[in-house]
Amino acid sequence: MSYMITAECINCSACEMECPVRAITSGPSQYVIDPGVCIECEGYYPVARCKWACPVDACVPERAHYLAKSATMLNKGAPPIVLTKLDPGGRVPAGVGG
Ligand code: SF4
Ligand code: SF4
Repeated sequence: MSYMITAECINCSACEMECPVRAITSGPSQYVIDPGVCIECEGYYPVARCKWACPVDACVPERAHYLAKSATMLNKGAPPIVLTKLDPGGRVPAGVGG
């Protein structure tokens, strides 16, 4: 597993030069971590250096982010079923729906 950068990133670049394996680059809209390169700082620092450097706490372990997202989705339950009136031909009549 690796670390990842959340949407809270403010593109300050503080983390980029701190990464011992150069896993962090500026992406199209915010900084990103290459999960194939990140080693969670093992052997270099006692804590993830990017997390330590980030002023807005946008660097998080990928697994923690994944688990939080899963929990949020579970709490929402099943998606609502939207019933739409169809004519016999299966088309939505004019004036109904979107
Ligand atoms: S956890 Fe360490 S190795 Fe991974 S991106 Fe952050 S600074 Fe780089
Ligand atoms: S230190 Fe935090 S806010 Fe700055 S570029 Fe890195 S992830 Fe983004």
